[in-house]
Amino acid sequence: MTVAEIIVDVPTMQTNRPFEYSIPEALNDVVVPGMRVEVPFGRGKRKIQGFVMKTKDQSDFKGKLKPISRVIDLKPVLSNEMLQLSYWLADKTYSFQISCLQTMLPSVMRAKYKQYAIPLDKTDPEVLNLFQGQATFEITNSLTDSQIRLIDRLRKNEKIDLRYVVENKAQQIKRQAVMTDLNIIQLHEAKNELRGNAKSQVKLLDFLIQHLNDLPVEMSELQKNFGIARSAIKTAEKNKLLKIVEVTKLRKPEGINPEKTTKLELTDEQQVAVDQIGQAISREQPETFLIEGVTGSGKTEVYLQTIEKALQQDKTALMLVPEISLTPQMVNRVVGRFGNQVAVLHSGLSSGERYDEWTRIENGDVKVVVGARSAVFAPLQRIGLIIIDEEHEASYKQDDNPRYNARDVALWRSKVNHCPVVLGSATPSLESRARAEKGVYHLIRMKKRINNQNLPHVQIVDMRDAENSSIKGDFSPVLKNNLQATLENHDQAIILLNRRGYSSFMMCRECGFVLKCPNCDVSLTYHKDLGKMKCHYCGHEEPVPNSCPNCRSKKIGFYGTGTQNIEQQLNDLFPEARVLRMDVDTTRRKGAHAKILQKFGSHQADILLGTQMIAKGLDFPDVTLVGVINADTTLSLADFRASERTFQLLTQVSGRAGRAKKTGRVVIQTFNPDHYAIKDAAKQDYETFFKQEMYLRHQSNYTPYYFTTLISVANKDEGQTLKQSYWLKKQLQTALSKDAILLGPSPTMISRKQNKYYYQIIVKYKHEPKLHDKLLEILNETQADAKKGFTIAIDNEPQHID
Ligand code: ADP
Ligand code: ZN
Ligand code: ZN
Repeated sequence: MTVAEIIVDVPTMQTNRPFEYSIPEALNDVVVPGMRVEVPFGRGKRKIQGFVMKTKDQSDFKGKLKPISRVIDLKPVLSNEMLQLSYWLADKTYSFQISCLQTMLPSVMRAKYKQYAIPLDKTDPEVLNLFQGQATFEITNSLTDSQIRLIDRLRKNEKIDLRYVVENKAQQIKRQAVMTDLNIIQLHEAKNELRGNAKSQVKLLDFLIQHLNDLPVEMSELQKNFGIARSAIKTAEKNKLLKIVEVTKLRKPEGINPEKTTKLELTDEQQVAVDQIGQAISREQPETFLIEGVTGSGKTEVYLQTIEKALQQDKTALMLVPEISLTPQMVNRVVGRFGNQVAVLHSGLSSGERYDEWTRIENGDVKVVVGARSAVFAPLQRIGLIIIDEEHEASYKQDDNPRYNARDVALWRSKVNHCPVVLGSATPSLESRARAEKGVYHLIRMKKRINNQNLPHVQIVDMRDAENSSIKGDFSPVLKNNLQATLENHDQAIILLNRRGYSSFMMCRECGFVLKCPNCDVSLTYHKDLGKMKCHYCGHEEPVPNSCPNCRSKKIGFYGTGTQNIEQQLNDLFPEARVLRMDVDTTRRKGAHAKILQKFGSHQADILLGTQMIAKGLDFPDVTLVGVINADTTLSLADFRASERTFQLLTQVSGRAGRAKKTGRVVIQTFNPDHYAIKDAAKQDYETFFKQEMYLRHQSNYTPYYFTTLISVANKDEGQTLKQSYWLKKQLQTALSKDAILLGPSPTMISRKQNKYYYQIIVKYKHEPKLHDKLLEILNETQADAKKGFTIAIDNEPQHID
């Protein structure tokens, strides 16, 4: 081959196509698709990186092609499948192909790295000669063409292999930590001796008393997670209450080392699912199954046994989970069953570790990959099964360019690999469930919990009741009594604080009324800068009301409480209870998440208090009570998926109760006890919810009856942003039929970010054949304006609208 088609690393619309380069004779069969090379680009001596997409013998170009300057990778970093995928992905997400290609690579290859050859056959004379007694051989820019050819030949003959290594950062880091020589009694005595106004010292001593067994604890953690100031620590050190010591910390993550498990005897429902999916694996057809299984119905065991079926046929399996650090239990289950045949990819890994896993996958050393969103690009071959657990999760959609949905990528890969896809959830997305309704997906329902365990008993507490509306804190008498009983039985409780949409909407505490847009049926959002309530869909705005438009009560206000506040209330109500708090603040450190869960799992705490992140996938047999402090916050999101999100959240979190022998109880506190999303979630009744929600979506022309595309415009100058938004709208109008619905422009939730103003336009449509090309055309035109600060982003099927 003498000509290469190359996608260059210049992310602009004008360069978003392959460019032809000639392959120097010396590199004739070294250069293959999937490799990165360096090429001259534009005028001058500038050299840039590019991906080889294709090689061929002839060029249609009349003039003389420029030659490739050098090869960067001495073996392809992307497979043919991935190269093909990049075309589709770029088109689907309106992104530059180069961004898609980069997204598929492990981050090491985008960072600063060194490339080494390692010997595989240490007896081969050519290998011996190349390495000269060294363990590795560094691939540098100064290699001659003949050396490159030699390396290429040795690699193809499997005598050597090539590895990337990130520049080694220090493996160990030293940190200051807090220790004490006092015992628990002495600490209590010291606390009693403190003056009443020494608040920070009391707090510090309380910490030491509570965490005596966990010491030493890093100072930064004390400051960050427990709000204890450095000065307080210093004072205590002076008073000999504690010591500051230095601890050495390894930069390695905690290893996943679960116990080996063997397969369980399946229930009838599980058996049906495993059989159906197993047959599809054998048929080698790209069919999609939707498992709609109530919480605790044993979906995981179905996943594990279908994976086994794929492995038995010498195929591999890819399993996606929402964000792996959030579901260590799921990872443990897969690794527990398949051991070192499993590679785990998640954001908690350092880029070096991630690359190691990636290499094991690429080399065919692993058969099963478990990972979060980007694991959908894992270089697995002969995929026999793709599983997407909690398929409704919004985190499968990437919020940045390229804005892809891993679910769609999985479906694409299933076609190329001729394998089935399994989507699993207790609360499927409306889109997927609707497709199953139409027969596009096979629906498998699992209605029973394992061991015929009852679904939890759910009680909805109406917070508008006199008894509740007069309470001081956030705990109703019902929830308080249930907590009391749980603690007395030495069982465990999970308390959910629903924090999304926090305090930006208005609700009446007297009647539960939420201020909504008259045109769109979504909540109005408070814009502090304008001092007004605004709709994010249509731009409607109105003043902030000072009494409830529904009942005239003055108790209308912004709504929201923080986890720390709730933790304090719990401590006041149940001083003897051990409370673990899990939210963004306590889980910032690597591994913190798993640690909290591990602690709760081994019953070192009685109550797990947390935000959305505790709602999913947890399986703790001693949890008999789940309490939801404020069911309403998600309900009031300014998003047409608000009811769906609320239903999902409440159903998922309720499903954490009573999973083993003991029956579970759930208490849901709400100001909207009659809302269908809350009532159906209380009954874990997905089907009823689905019908009602589909009806409403139909009424208001939302997904899945309509497709949605969101286009946002950003500019430093608000006037310009608006002007450009209207220009955009006009452009779109020329390409759309009268059936399409155009909303906006309206400001986004935080309409000003980093001094840029954001406006958005929403297109809702059923069939608009001209829309795609029009959007590409708009991208093209606005490109030229990019330098003036006009940026637009196109999001196909957005998961959040804000
Ligand atoms: P889901 O993911 O559907 O909520 P899980 O897969 O977590 O449910 O299963 C719930 C519990 O039932 C788990 O503790 C699991 O180990 C157990 N389990 C699953 N299948 C079986 C089975 N066939 N026999 C016995 N126990 C099972
Ligand atoms: Zn009211
Ligand atoms: Zn509106």
